[in-house]
Amino acid sequence: MKHELPPLPYKKKALEPFLSTETLEFHYEKHHRGYVEKLNELIVGTPYEEMALADLIRQAEGKIFNNAAQVWNHTFYWNCMSPDSTQLRSHDFQEIVRHNFGSREELLQEFTEAGKDYFGSGYVWLTLDSNGSLRIETMTNAENPLTQDRIPLLTADLWEHAYYIDYRNERARYLNQFVKKINWEFVERNFQELGSAGVSFRQTKA
Ligand code: MN
Repeated sequence: MKHELPPLPYKKKALEPFLSTETLEFHYEKHHRGYVEKLNELIVGTPYEEMALADLIRQAEGKIFNNAAQVWNHTFYWNCMSPDSTQLRSHDFQEIVRHNFGSREELLQEFTEAGKDYFGSGYVWLTLDSNGSLRIETMTNAENPLTQDRIPLLTADLWEHAYYIDYRNERARYLNQFVKKINWEFVERNFQELGSAGVSFRQTKA
């Protein structure tokens, strides 16, 4: 099975001035495409050749894991941002945010703090754990919450290639702008769809 580079959910200039067309040219066309191409090379003749991407992430290790997770993480990351302003609609999600963080502002403050303080390359995630609690966690390199039985709801890429063209070394400034561009409809959909799928999966497993 050949993995494909999914189309961006918006035009490359759509996030300006938060992220420039140049950043999208490199980050999507070079980095993301590079992970897809590398993954397709690596899986030839291995037991992973016919495996779906999410299963590869759960089962593969080393280079195959790294490239598979980077393909998945980038597709997810693009969808976490929107050029349009988006709103939370679901009462359930707003309730759990209030219960776990106090408010959406406090959630975002914790999210940006975690991302600013994180040392090295990786991602900051908002996840739903198996007890139904929201968590903010940083993970190194290509690491993905799916390997730890958690449901990813939101992520910001913390690799320097995500922000260096527009913000140079100022990751905090990138994150402060990132939180204004979050696609809350996507976050909420992940909570509803992946979250409920995760719950039924755990119930059948137990
Ligand atoms: Mn990246």
